[in-house]
Amino acid sequence: MAMYNVCAVCNACGDLHTTGITVSLNGGPASKQSIEEAFANKDPPTIIAELKEKRVHCPKIGRQYAQRDGKKIFLIPMG
Ligand SMILES: [Zn+2]
Repeated sequence: MAMYNVCAVCNACGDLHTTGITVSLNGGPASKQSIEEAFANKDPPTIIAELKEKRVHCPKIGRQYAQRDGKKIFLIPMG
């Protein structure tokens, strides 16, 4: 199992913000990769599919946003 930080591109400022969510995956990507790419040819685990429903906090505008584009949600290996 590998642990990943989940980050999402911001709809407001365009930066990549951490969601504060960590996930552990078997067979996940070795380096930073979008969930769209990481699960291109397979069904994503429930925990990954649910990321599109999460709200992400933008520290620049001080509001939350939803990022539903799998190409803009990234898994970043920890450690
Ligand atoms: Zn932002």
